[in-house]
Amino acid sequence: MADIFKDFNETLVKCRLCPRLVAHRETVVLRPPLDQERGWRKPVPGFGDPNGWLLILGLAPSPQGGNRTGRIFTGDKSAVFLMESLYTNGLCNQPYSISKEDGLKLNGCYITAAVKCVPPKHQPTSEEARCCINTYLVPELDRLTNIRAVLALGKLAFDAYFMWAKTKQKEIEKKPFGHGLSYQFPFLPKIYGSYHPSPQNTNTGKLTKEMFNHLLNKIILENK
Ligand code: SF4
Repeated sequence: MADIFKDFNETLVKCRLCPRLVAHRETVVLRPPLDQERGWRKPVPGFGDPNGWLLILGLAPSPQGGNRTGRIFTGDKSAVFLMESLYTNGLCNQPYSISKEDGLKLNGCYITAAVKCVPPKHQPTSEEARCCINTYLVPELDRLTNIRAVLALGKLAFDAYFMWAKTKQKEIEKKPFGHGLSYQFPFLPKIYGSYHPSPQNTNTGKLTKEMFNHLLNKIILENK
């Protein structure tokens, strides 16, 4: 099967549209002993099944995750939480995501991020987010034509779905974000909100494995 993202990703990984994010991705310190690694340090493409029914949409790569390994939700603590849950729910073939060469295969889903470069303090500016969503996320989602459900991890990803949805139906209004809230619009994939599985949320109990598995299970029952 042809890789529908080949040209797209070749362009993406060379992008330098956001000077602040380019400087950060190329210089951010990697946690010891990873300081020795040069790391990926480029925009991070999505991965998974381009014909899948579920899209998991994150915020942006983390320094130790996508910016180091070159694959989104790979090699950091958020990846541990996410991949154990996907595995529990039959959405991937192994409960870990540690490198591009680890053999991970997603079943029926595709994972990407709203913003493709690691931002300082996990926070892109609104201008950076708008630029990346319009330039890359919108055409990326346009290529995922079998998607029936989008699981947005965090408010920025949730809002990014509405930026994309408005390019299809301009009358759509942005809806409130909340964990477990979902909205369905005619002819578009259903959107579900979740707290982001970052250590900030999972270490404090704001997002637990039970909460996340419950939501994944609901999404599967309603859409698979
Ligand atoms: S965040 Fe997006 S638009 Fe900005 S430099 Fe990275 S890939 Fe390009």
